[in-house]
Amino acid sequence: CVILGIESSCDETSVAVCDNGSILSNIIAGQHVHEAYGGVVPELASRAHQQNIIPAVHQAIKKAKISKKDINAVAFTRGPGLLGSLLVGTSFAKAFALGLKVPLIEVNHMQAHILAHFIDEPRPAFPFLCLTVSGGHTQIVKVNDYFEMELLGQTLDDAAGEAFDKTAKILGLPYPGGPLVDRYAREGNPDAFKFPEPSVPGLDFSFSGLKTSILYFVRDHIHKNPSFLEENMADICASVQSRIVSILLNKLKKASGETGITQVAIAGGVSANSGLRDAVQEAGKALGWEIFIPRLEYCTDNAAMIAIAAYYKYLKGDFAGQDVSPLARWSL
Ligand code: ATP
Ligand code: MG
Ligand code: FE
Repeated sequence: CVILGIESSCDETSVAVCDNGSILSNIIAGQHVHEAYGGVVPELASRAHQQNIIPAVHQAIKKAKISKKDINAVAFTRGPGLLGSLLVGTSFAKAFALGLKVPLIEVNHMQAHILAHFIDEPRPAFPFLCLTVSGGHTQIVKVNDYFEMELLGQTLDDAAGEAFDKTAKILGLPYPGGPLVDRYAREGNPDAFKFPEPSVPGLDFSFSGLKTSILYFVRDHIHKNPSFLEENMADICASVQSRIVSILLNKLKKASGETGITQVAIAGGVSANSGLRDAVQEAGKALGWEIFIPRLEYCTDNAAMIAIAAYYKYLKGDFAGQDVSPLARWSL
């Protein structure tokens, strides 16, 4: 079966075509309008989705070398995300499915980040643990089946991606800062500066204290040496990244210890981080985990993950009605 998937939860308009579980195209139209504002402006995001969506659908269909009449179902991100952005993808998907007279499939964005692991081989076996780290979420999930997911822990304040982006902002780096911190970190010494590890009970996370300590650290050093940032950018980035990664890894090890599960995956935009990818590899070797790390294009927001999640819903006959509406908040 051929599924057209649409992702519009934040600031990426993405459309993918999947045929019996293999991805034929995955078009991602980024939105550069937000750079001037240092963060995503919701109203501008929904307008950009409106401009991007039809060209992106055409491109995805063309690249997949299919025609509209080959499409068996239309899938879309119902939530969680920015309501105005979700509304564009949802409304388009509903109209397109109605026009083509094919079923409509709703997808949870956070489930889709995890199900991105079913795009390529090797695939994790159930049950597995997934650390989902993105711009809005930080979760440790026990994945019992495609759509049976248990939240074991999550952030109590900022998400890991936010910690990267806010660090970048404090350091004067342009938005979106996560990938830039990663790039500087490769040239720096992770032991140059020590940032605190918060003590949070259970499998939950907290990143707001780290952000505050970086703010004070930078303020105090700049006071003594105005060119402190320029002289130490790589070392600061490496040190902050190493702390974020150690916070994530410690909880992941705890989750594996408590559940006895050694199939371990990472997902979401921050799973593109080279420090995290290396640390998970190492932990896997040391602890005998079988680890699953997504291809870079399936870490950050993309419609391939929406289409693959929809494929497993299609197999179950799990369709949405034309009365479906988007959800800004929607648990796993
Ligand atoms: P959510 O999935 O929670 O709704 P989102 O969709 O905005 O949020 P993603 O697109 O999955 O999030 O991920 C974006 C986040 O990933 C941003 O915070 C970005 O800075 C971060 N990120 C992307 N690449 C890297 C990297 N190499 N290192 C660190 N962070 C990164
Ligand atoms: Mg994004
Ligand atoms: Fe996302």
